[in-house]
Amino acid sequence: MASALPLIDRHGRAISYLRVSVTDRCDLRCRYCMAEAMTFLPRAALLSLDEIAIIAERFIARGVRRIRLSGGEPLVRRDAIDLVRRLGRHVGSGLDEVTMTTNGTRLADAATDLRGAGIRRINVSLDSRDPATFRFITRHGDVARVLDGIAAAKRAGIAVKINMVALAGLNEDEIPDMLAWCGEQGHDLSLIETMPLGAIDEDRTDRFVPLTRVLDRLARTVALERDSHRTGGPARYWRTPWGTRLGLISPLTANFCDGCNRVRLTTEGHLYMCLGHEDRVDLKAALRNGGVDALDAAIDGALAAKPARHDFRIDAAAPAVARHMSVTGG
Ligand code: SAM
Ligand code: SF4
Repeated sequence: MASALPLIDRHGRAISYLRVSVTDRCDLRCRYCMAEAMTFLPRAALLSLDEIAIIAERFIARGVRRIRLSGGEPLVRRDAIDLVRRLGRHVGSGLDEVTMTTNGTRLADAATDLRGAGIRRINVSLDSRDPATFRFITRHGDVARVLDGIAAAKRAGIAVKINMVALAGLNEDEIPDMLAWCGEQGHDLSLIETMPLGAIDEDRTDRFVPLTRVLDRLARTVALERDSHRTGGPARYWRTPWGTRLGLISPLTANFCDGCNRVRLTTEGHLYMCLGHEDRVDLKAALRNGGVDALDAAIDGALAAKPARHDFRIDAAAPAVARHMSVTGG
């Protein structure tokens, strides 16, 4: 008989948020995220859409209220919208929302379908609005397509939050303009510190920007008001003069692991209890070999092993964990 016990870890934290990486593949190669020549998982290793849905539904039955689909680039997986549709049926009965983080390259075509499938909010990564800087950071991306995608999402009635990784010497000086543009467009903006996840072709320490520095600079020219909104993640929020929200995701300069409410499922079926640790539990094997009861037992085991906090340090010689953000889905 499957356990329907609520998801409480050994540190007393209730798990209410599941992130799912639906593919480790991506059509871009952002420098801070991936190496140029990345090796991706063979398709045979991936969970099927039905398996992802069964696992996600088990989490919903046990108390997860928000699910975010991510990747890699979720929209390069053809059946991603079918998954949104299937999970979207649970919104209002157990689940509060299904959301997605996307690089936006395919959003212009997908926006209306995503809205129809149940997406009401989406995060779009946009590290620069300058075509040359964007192309450099993503190694070949076309910012015009992403901007079209963002406009299409807005027209479809999806609230857009922009994600921007702060990068010294690349986009740091663009942050005030990005905040103003987001404000004028009605988009919230989250600034993110680079995290030491997976080997890339360069040294992340060269590009690391502490968000404390960004906030000090912004506060000299923009009236920002502290906002008490919390999501159980490492973000802190401010209200901007445009009525939008500014989020700072700074796991390196501020640690909020005490209130962590999330776990992460990879496209291979591994459940990671912390972005900053290698420990994982194989839910694919549990489901395939023992069905839903074994899945529940594996989830219980994972909760018992969720670490108290991450071990990130930007000045460490090697990445804190070997896997890339694209495997665990941001
Ligand atoms: N491809 C989609 C995208 O870029 O939005 C979804 C996956 S991506 C891994 C999710 C988020 O993680 C993006 O906002 C990206 O900028 C961020 N990210 C990737 N690698 C990172 C790293 N090493 N440190 C901090 N943020 C990272
Ligand atoms: Fe792809 Fe997103 Fe990583 Fe950029 S950040 S390479 S878009 S997965």
